[in-house]
Amino acid sequence: METSLKDRLFNLIPPAMIAVVLSFWAFGPRSLVEHPWALTVTSPLIVIAILLLEAVHERHAGWRMNRREFLTDLYYSVLSATVIAWLTQKLSEEPLVALKASLGLTTAWASHLPWLAQVAMVIFLIEFGQYWMHRLMHNWTPFWLTHAPHHHITQLNAAKGAVGNPIELFLISLSVVALFDFDKTAIFAALNTMGVISVFAHANVRADPPIWYSFFFTTIRHHSLHHSTDYESTRCNYGNSLILLDRIFGTYREGEGILVGQDDRKRLTIREQTMFPFAPMIEKFKVWRAAKQPRGALAEASPADDLDRDAAGAKAAA
Ligand SMILES: [Zn+2]
Ligand SMILES: [Zn+2]
Repeated sequence: METSLKDRLFNLIPPAMIAVVLSFWAFGPRSLVEHPWALTVTSPLIVIAILLLEAVHERHAGWRMNRREFLTDLYYSVLSATVIAWLTQKLSEEPLVALKASLGLTTAWASHLPWLAQVAMVIFLIEFGQYWMHRLMHNWTPFWLTHAPHHHITQLNAAKGAVGNPIELFLISLSVVALFDFDKTAIFAALNTMGVISVFAHANVRADPPIWYSFFFTTIRHHSLHHSTDYESTRCNYGNSLILLDRIFGTYREGEGILVGQDDRKRLTIREQTMFPFAPMIEKFKVWRAAKQPRGALAEASPADDLDRDAAGAKAAA
């Protein structure tokens, strides 16, 4: 099939956007890049730009954005930027900085590295942690229960990377970057670069970047396969932004998914996504309570729907 000029242009947008992000943080006016709100503005701008691209050159009609999906995505984007970001700061980054100070660790060498090397190192540190956290989530039931809601999404869109159980969103945000004295603009450039990659990796945009990009960075092809409905296809391509890690650790798989979701493709509400990890416990409690009730009352306590889903979730995690 011949590639149209529009396709070829769109295939180059992800690398071009990374170039824009890096140039902004490297050469942008100091008053802008050092502004305390800079990252708070640039991160959603990236998502908005890619959402607009979905409207211009969509990948699958079945993933087309609608009001319900948009509002859910918006809820999680705000949750991540506020509550989750605050929790990460208080429970992870500040304790790490305190630990570093109490141990007398100094990492001034980090800020003396070339700027681009600092960006690359921040990306590698964050992605290395996320890769193994993601693999753990797919291999150990307590962690899977936090990650399964992200796999229950039934379509992919630009902000879907932020959709998931809040415990998962917190776990995936953990990193050791706070232990190093990197230049702040290098950290922000790294965060925005990973933002561009992972937002495109969830977006309904017909953009398939060239191999010199997709060898290193996760694309929608890699990640849509990971979101497939069949269990085997989800056991690969764990890299959030650095698909290179899957190539190194033997979990890379070529392919692409169109039908995405978990098991019976049941779309979970925000409430169901939030309660998902606790569902088995709630179920056990209901069974225990029903067992204590007199026989006549048993018929009323029939948690069939929840049981079905829990069984399916446990199977996927096995
Ligand atoms: Zn996953
Ligand atoms: Zn995903």
